[in-house]
Amino acid sequence: MFDLLMKNGLAVTPSGPRKLSIAVRDGKIAGLFDPESQVPAREVFDFTGKIIFPGLIDSHAHVTYCGDFFSGSRTAASGGVTTLVEMPQSGHLPSVFDKGVLSGRIASIHEESVVDCALYGGVRAGQLEHIEELVKAGVAAFKVFLSDAGDYGSFDDASLLTLLQSSHRYHCLVAAHAESQPICAMETKRMTDAQKGAEGNSGSRPVISEILAVTRLCTLALHEHARVSICHISSRQVAGVIQEFRQKGLQVYAETCPHYLLLNSDDVARHGAWAKCAPPIRSQKTVNSLWESVCEGEIDMIGSDHATYSDAQKSAGSFWSAPGGFPGLDLILPGLYDEGVCRRGLSLSRLAQITASNPARIFGLDYCKGSIEIGKDADFAILDPAVRWEFHASDTFYDTKSPHYPYEGRIFQGKVDSTFVRGKQVWQKGKILVNRHGRYVPSCR
Ligand SMILES: [Zn+2]
Repeated sequence: MFDLLMKNGLAVTPSGPRKLSIAVRDGKIAGLFDPESQVPAREVFDFTGKIIFPGLIDSHAHVTYCGDFFSGSRTAASGGVTTLVEMPQSGHLPSVFDKGVLSGRIASIHEESVVDCALYGGVRAGQLEHIEELVKAGVAAFKVFLSDAGDYGSFDDASLLTLLQSSHRYHCLVAAHAESQPICAMETKRMTDAQKGAEGNSGSRPVISEILAVTRLCTLALHEHARVSICHISSRQVAGVIQEFRQKGLQVYAETCPHYLLLNSDDVARHGAWAKCAPPIRSQKTVNSLWESVCEGEIDMIGSDHATYSDAQKSAGSFWSAPGGFPGLDLILPGLYDEGVCRRGLSLSRLAQITASNPARIFGLDYCKGSIEIGKDADFAILDPAVRWEFHASDTFYDTKSPHYPYEGRIFQGKVDSTFVRGKQVWQKGKILVNRHGRYVPSCR
């Protein structure tokens, strides 16, 4: 007897989409059966007409920037995201530079979260003494900035080289925000001198700045045999540079975000600070070529870079002084399904790879997460491809339900019907069904 059986859905398995019945016991996938098989289970779900994806892993969440694991994890569940990989910086908590702070984050996950969470560790240039304890505590990767990052700190070539030597020793992944600070500073000044506003965003942090920073990092990483991941790339040109280093033998991964695929620079001109992020959103031409990169497998994973800044924070100063980032964690699956699968030939299998199995493998979470296979956690995102719906921030769990965010009023084909975390249904048609359920998922590699 199984605890739960999901019948008649189209399951996106590692060997492709298949109609099958998924049986769950003790929170794990315990059996995969032909749809006709009679399988005894205490609870049965009929998912006729629905697509069953492995629960999404958001490789780049910032739910504690402005909010917390309570609202962030509910947002995640509503979008089929069953594991958040949360970044170390927060707007109101100390950054995760040591095990003490990490323990605080883990306690919050267990108290507040309805989905599972892995954590990035933080590290400062020249202060590498906490790397070992954070690795032992299972951090998924270390986040570093090559461009300016305020109090969090950034890395120059020398400190980066030292960090990569250390990361090689501890077999940990270094994930980088890769932009060249001197180029961004010069081009931003050029835009402000010319009295430009949001329409100057892309030019203020040009693609060449990403290319240069990625090249620096990858050159050093290749030299030190380190594993690195490039956060939120905005263009296929950057993906091309990453591919070149991969061909030289470097273990390097490319992440992009839904907004580099679903929005363009006209949206930034229209929504101003609410659509500001770094690297910036590019022209539609660049967006189109980035989609080719995604469909052809050059992009390893999709992270939301979700951050829920308030209208007050976004409008306090000029476009240039406004904080970068906006929400979108709940729109990864509807966005990639609508724009990718329905319009651009993205396969269901590729979608599952970049949102689940790849990040699971890259972060060392694949011992329990990332695919519909016997023995893995019963984490599922059930998409109803027939539902067409209009997004409004007021319907979400965001800390700030601003109508100025760039996806407001957008129509999506395909909606997340239900979300399961370790066999427990946490979200169904607009309702969160549990109070707390999430666990910290340490990286094991
Ligand atoms: Zn980020």
